Amino acid sequence: MAHDMCKRAVFLGARKCPQYIVDSSAIPQIEPGQVLAKIRLATICGSDVHTLQGKRIEETPSVLGHEGVAEIVQDERRNHGNLGPGDRITFSVMDSCGECERCTQGLTQKCAKLFKYGHSSIHRRTGLNGCYASHIILHEGTRIVKLPDSVTDKMAAPVNCALATMVNAVGSIEHKRAPQSTVLIQGAGLLGIYACALLHDAGFGQIYCTDPKANRLKMVPLFGGIPIPSGKESEVLQDGAVDAVIEVCGVGAAINLGMLLLKPGGTYILAGLVHPDSCLNVTAEDIIRKCLTIKGIHNYSHQHLDEAVAFLARTANKYPYEQLVGPAFSLNQFESAVQESIQGRFWRVALDPTFTE
Ligand SMILES: [Zn+2]
Ligand SMILES: [Zn+2]
Repeated sequence: MAHDMCKRAVFLGARKCPQYIVDSSAIPQIEPGQVLAKIRLATICGSDVHTLQGKRIEETPSVLGHEGVAEIVQDERRNHGNLGPGDRITFSVMDSCGECERCTQGLTQKCAKLFKYGHSSIHRRTGLNGCYASHIILHEGTRIVKLPDSVTDKMAAPVNCALATMVNAVGSIEHKRAPQSTVLIQGAGLLGIYACALLHDAGFGQIYCTDPKANRLKMVPLFGGIPIPSGKESEVLQDGAVDAVIEVCGVGAAINLGMLLLKPGGTYILAGLVHPDSCLNVTAEDIIRKCLTIKGIHNYSHQHLDEAVAFLARTANKYPYEQLVGPAFSLNQFESAVQESIQGRFWRVALDPTFTE
């Protein structure tokens, strides 16, 4: 095993020229507790595009990419569960210790010893730390979930970031679930589309989704939502008519309107504004007088990934997941793949490291 080769796209930095190189090296020998897996398909998350554009700073040099489907090559964990070589898997973006206060409280994504795939220097751990590579090495505190055959690689690639995060978000408003409840989703990117499907399948009544881009809204009805062009919310929804708002648009200016639309006792989930330019123009009085709950959702913990895979398997024929993912590029075509992502014609652009050109 140690003599097999791996290939990876190494990101050097947004202001470096070139920004990244594609290198080849021998696969390191894995240690007890680790799993070596081949990447079958990776998707480019919006957060990676921001890193490549220098809008967020991550450790470099690094192998980016945290959304992906892999196949187990070698498993050196003590407890394999139902997994073995050849199995198609997804895995938690976070490796956590399972013992610290945050882990034991169920907040594994904030583990005191947190390690995140696709966000770490190649000098940490084995260097095979991200999905924009032929192989990845997973560690003992990583949740690994087998994918059922009904879930294709294209459907499954974003499950371990976007879908699992939305399972976490929607779980936070579970108490609002009722046939007459109304939810507003701000943003029809992949998070917003997944939120539509999760709320629709769970039996929430009216699920509205806003976005300034008409081409993104066209997917909303296929996932159980009702599209509203941004700016037209007040023509469709009355003030104080919404039980919960889920922000996945990343635009701070949208929050004022969401607050206005919420009912007294409503819940506001903030999940998209994960950047420094996220000051909110709201007062404490706005929150207090309406008895609102505001909750931040960042990533997810292990059980959300399990639920996300189960949800995807159960609804594989109910919603057109494959339409969300555009064409796949090889690692050598990384630049074209990033450009396609920035264009925004698809909810996700894929990289297939098994392509050789
Ligand atoms: Zn992501
Ligand atoms: Zn921990």
